[in-house]
Amino acid sequence: MPNYTFECKKCGEYFDVTESIQDHDRHRDKCPKCGSKDVRQKFSTFFAKTSKKS
Ligand SMILES: [Zn+2]
Repeated sequence: MPNYTFECKKCGEYFDVTESIQDHDRHRDKCPKCGSKDVRQKFSTFFAKTSKKS
């Protein structure tokens, strides 16, 4: 099962979510810290080797 890393654009919290592709597609993840749904996926295990630039 893939693991996703998200960054909350509101508070800057990083959090990991492990879920199936179907679940990932179906529901929106939200920040566990502030509850904002304004989150951005950083990378998953599938894309762990992509270039990291700020
Ligand atoms: Zn947050």
